[in-house]
Amino acid sequence: MFELLNEALDRLWLTDGPLVREFEQRLVEVTGADHCVAVVNATVGIQLAARACGIGPGDEVIVPSFTWVATAHALSWIGVVPVFCDIDQGTGNIDPEHLERVITPSTKGIVAVHVFGRPCPIAELTAIAERHGIPLIFDAAHGLGSTYGGVPLGGFGAAEVLSFHATKFLNSFEGGAVVTNDPELAARIRAMRNFGIDPDRDVVSHGTNGKMNEGVAAMGLTSLEVMDEIIKHNLLNYELYLRELADVPGVTVREQAPDERSNNQYLVIEVDGAVAGLSRDEMCDELHARNVMARRYFHPACHQIEPYKQAPEVHAPLPLPHSEALAERVLALPTGTSIGEEEIIGIAAIIRAVVTERGSRVRR
Ligand SMILES: *Cc1c(COP(=O)(O)O)cnc(C)c1O
Repeated sequence: MFELLNEALDRLWLTDGPLVREFEQRLVEVTGADHCVAVVNATVGIQLAARACGIGPGDEVIVPSFTWVATAHALSWIGVVPVFCDIDQGTGNIDPEHLERVITPSTKGIVAVHVFGRPCPIAELTAIAERHGIPLIFDAAHGLGSTYGGVPLGGFGAAEVLSFHATKFLNSFEGGAVVTNDPELAARIRAMRNFGIDPDRDVVSHGTNGKMNEGVAAMGLTSLEVMDEIIKHNLLNYELYLRELADVPGVTVREQAPDERSNNQYLVIEVDGAVAGLSRDEMCDELHARNVMARRYFHPACHQIEPYKQAPEVHAPLPLPHSEALAERVLALPTGTSIGEEEIIGIAAIIRAVVTERGSRVRR
């Protein structure tokens, strides 16, 4: 990291330079997508991908309500209207049947999210997008390192958008990338990332400043070196949590897709309050009281928060019961390389003790 950064400082080429090119090349190798455009963060990446797909102010784009608010905010900030669609409560991902029901003639695109690194039903979504002639973009902020049908996420839909924010599994402090197999789309995004300037130095389109700097690329390249180790470590953590929490009533570890590789960057449990004897929120408080950094992720669902809840007729034309139900049950527990066997056994013991104590009344 420091070596790469020193090279950049010696070159006096501090942004959008050789390290960014190298990071893009490495991401092409890792995802298998043909083109990679590194950007300042995934939020701007989603905006660039949408604009480059011809989506603009006033257009409606369908997004799942069970996602990080950035998916919706990225669109609304450029004047695009997010319309929320429900999810499959089991996978947490956009429900193709519900998606079909919210598509109208005003729908100009779909942004689906690989929630917690679990791949969307990509074949179904692709068929729907093709049938309606609208672009399908994936918010793959959780998706790097996971597979669909054995193929790494990154090369599906019109484009996929990765995030390297410090809380994500590949960390470049901040950062993101748009990956795509479409050379023309990649060229448009490259121009739009840099004020709409094309390789001939002419301004050819709208644009913004979405460039990645060399320090960020140095950090990203360094993180990529240990990506496979992190995946292995997260898998061990996941298996250990699964074992340790197997017999705790009302608590289930959310499973990843069978037969797929997952980055397991999030370890999410569901708390069924009626069985556990305490609600998800109470469980969260109990863990915080013991210094365990549990997080309600995602909660609430996007259509339930400002500014979207102000205009349900625009943003949530149909009820979204599964998004609401899942948002009430999920709790993300600590995982990653700073968490090992000892910590997980300790966290599981706390959860078991709390459920035994609080739940015994309910189950008796
Ligand atoms: C983190 C996240 C984003 C935003 O990524 P940034 O790089 O922080 O802009 C978008 N969507 C989802 C699902 C995320 O988790």
